[in-house]
Amino acid sequence: MTLGVFGGTFNPVHLGHLRAAEEVAELLGLEHVLFVPSADPPHKSQADAVLAPARERYAWVEAAVADNARFAVDPLELERAGPSYSVDTLGEIGRRTAPAKPVFVIGDEAFAELATWREPRRVLGLAHFAVMARPPSKGRPPTTSLAGCLPDALADEIELEPGGLAGRHRDAGTWIRLLEIAALDVSATEVRRRLRAGRSVRYLVPEAAREAILASGVYAPPTGAGGDASVEAAAEAEGERGQ
Ligand code: ATP
Repeated sequence: MTLGVFGGTFNPVHLGHLRAAEEVAELLGLEHVLFVPSADPPHKSQADAVLAPARERYAWVEAAVADNARFAVDPLELERAGPSYSVDTLGEIGRRTAPAKPVFVIGDEAFAELATWREPRRVLGLAHFAVMARPPSKGRPPTTSLAGCLPDALADEIELEPGGLAGRHRDAGTWIRLLEIAALDVSATEVRRRLRAGRSVRYLVPEAAREAILASGVYAPPTGAGGDASVEAAAEAEGERGQ
């Protein structure tokens, strides 16, 4: 049995997340995909963008995955105090799946930051990595090879296979694969921007979570916003802070 682990801030969960998990599960024959919302994401500073409370982000993911028997959500990062480090999460999940190792599902732009994570070399040995080529955006070129997103500082750990779409950890026996998926061009930044501008997010976020996301008011337009000018200014401000 192969378990996928899909970590993220899910601020908020959107259809890009669900579609990506579905495609990776299908491509790799994963039996289950565990969504793991980060409680206190070390890489996403709260000053950069509005961060919904962890319990709310968790509840939205829970509602979003409820109708998919292959998907589940795990509160382990909410139950652990302090910053949510993937090295701790994968260590804990790996103890459950041992001797098999889980498959960490991650976007190419997040994988490219791996060297900045806590104990990145250990992380590469704790799980296999399914790296999704996300749609190129804002001038970012498409990722067509693993070398294009494998951080230089970690390159010595991985032996790339001919073709450049897969690699193996030299000691740990884990693999990395770059997966071409028909990813949806949706980001949480864009969803927040629309909510802040008072615009619709229908068909961008899972219908099962949409009402709760709106009712939370977390990303709502600033009070007193009204008229096109203030809505546009608010949208621009969120855009500048995003990503
Ligand atoms: P933000 O816009 O706030 O940075 P995000 O949309 O990238 O957020 P995260 O919760 O940070 O969402 O992402 C969790 C994981 O899902 C990351 O590995 C990210 O690369 C991946 N991901 C996010 N959106 C998509 C998408 N549309 N298609 C494929 N993968 C995605």
